[in-house]
Amino acid sequence: MPGKVYMNGDFVAKEQAAVSVYDHGLLYGDGVFEGIRVYGGNVFLLQEHVTRLYESALAIRLEIPIAPEAMARAVEETVAANGIEDGYVRLVVTRGSGTLGLDIRRTSDPQVIIIADTISLYPAEYYEQGLELITASTIRNHPSALNPRIKSLNYLNNILAKIEATDQGKIEALMLNHKGEVSECTGDNIFILKRGVLKTPPPDAGILEGITRDAVIRLAAQEGMTVEQVPLVRHDVYIADECFLTGTAAEVIPVVKVDGRVIGDGVPGPITRRLLELFQQLTRGD
Ligand code: PMP
Repeated sequence: MPGKVYMNGDFVAKEQAAVSVYDHGLLYGDGVFEGIRVYGGNVFLLQEHVTRLYESALAIRLEIPIAPEAMARAVEETVAANGIEDGYVRLVVTRGSGTLGLDIRRTSDPQVIIIADTISLYPAEYYEQGLELITASTIRNHPSALNPRIKSLNYLNNILAKIEATDQGKIEALMLNHKGEVSECTGDNIFILKRGVLKTPPPDAGILEGITRDAVIRLAAQEGMTVEQVPLVRHDVYIADECFLTGTAAEVIPVVKVDGRVIGDGVPGPITRRLLELFQQLTRGD
């Protein structure tokens, strides 16, 4: 039974695992995090997630009190302590407690928290029938304001866009950047296929460089496909032959409608299905 939360080197019962109300993670969303999958008892792409966590921390000048190797070990130990075979790990590092002001020099004790739990997956019908997206009116954070490459504890930008999706009965929203280009969805990266070429926005379009995105780019390249990281506009999505999203929770999920426009044949495309299959083989370690 999951219930042991790693906190700064100790395991604490879930009910007792708590942070201070003075923690700047709570007061200001000042911290970083990762979401990681566990497949068959193995933490999937752990190294990549740990690297991204430390890069996010570096960008916000947050010094994580333990080394990356110790962090990776702590994740493995937390998964084992909770007996998780197939599940999800949430890794969080907060700025720690401080004064009721923004000064990071007046904070101490960053909290390192690792939660290993089960995961609720998207219903199978989304994979069989594909998703419908709307474009949110909320634009993705400007990279010079809060760079989306930082996986920070401040997810309000994404939450505001997600509210727009749920208000319209959809589970994901497409977000545009300050230039009106396609960036990503609220918790997933986006790909399109056009005339056999796979395309996805580049990091400077204002995206989180998804670890699933990277894995799918590698798998597609291994399949001999041309993959381009190029700026895209909504028109490119509307006229795509196929479209899909990638993310730790979603894996590879087909998109069949965007803003009421049918994408391709209106059903999950063959390349999307092939990439999902290859990705799932990778998660199983074949
Ligand atoms: N974009 C955003 C905004 C995300 O939060 C996530 C993670 N849920 C992704 C993309 C996908 O990244 P990953 O494949 O590393 O989960």
